[in-house]
Amino acid sequence: MFNQLKEGLGWLKKEKSIELGQGLKLTIKRKENDDLFIGFKKDNLIVLDFNWFVPAGTKFRLSRKNDWSAVMPNHHGQKPEVLVGRFDEIKDLFNLLHEIGHVVDSTETEFIWSAIKANQKSRALDKANIYPESRLKAIKKEYEEVLLAERSAWLFAIRQAHLLELQYGFDLFKKNFSRTDAIVDYVNQYLKTYEQNYLGELRDFDIYSKEEMIELFSRLGQSEPEEANG
Ligand SMILES: [Zn+2]
Repeated sequence: MFNQLKEGLGWLKKEKSIELGQGLKLTIKRKENDDLFIGFKKDNLIVLDFNWFVPAGTKFRLSRKNDWSAVMPNHHGQKPEVLVGRFDEIKDLFNLLHEIGHVVDSTETEFIWSAIKANQKSRALDKANIYPESRLKAIKKEYEEVLLAERSAWLFAIRQAHLLELQYGFDLFKKNFSRTDAIVDYVNQYLKTYEQNYLGELRDFDIYSKEEMIELFSRLGQSEPEEANG
């Protein structure tokens, strides 16, 4: 456990730079605690700070678990955060932009949380071999909200990556994705992990594949899940 932690954070002791050519570097620097500066430097001058992309008060922090995620703002005063995972190569910029996409589009948050809460309430009423339609509708709703947010965060990431390429003159796509549709595979691979979560939850309903899941969801129609009682 301790070794894992040590190794996990070993990739960033104080500062790490990735060369982008022509004097341009991506720099990740630890400030006090786990707060990070992430940006582009050219001849040691900051030419881009990813803080410029996010709502005021957003923090970039080193993920203690090495995985990428976004912490969304809430009514209890939680400010948005981008938790930065292991950054080895310029390709990882897609992960950063994806999480920034979540923080920028925080309007999604309310919808996702209400869908997740409704599904939790519904799940709490589970009884062996009795699965009311409201339970399936709650799963469907959560699946749709989560996948929508993931897709739009990827769309944001891909658009911003193109803009950065144009503006700063470095190669991100061609170097990392030899075929033009390889980025689509990359995103689909990622979305699949989310789909797996819902397939896991649907196993008790004898649903084992994505096709079966989509088919089931389409049969449920468009109506809102009923409020679960209790
Ligand atoms: Zn995401």
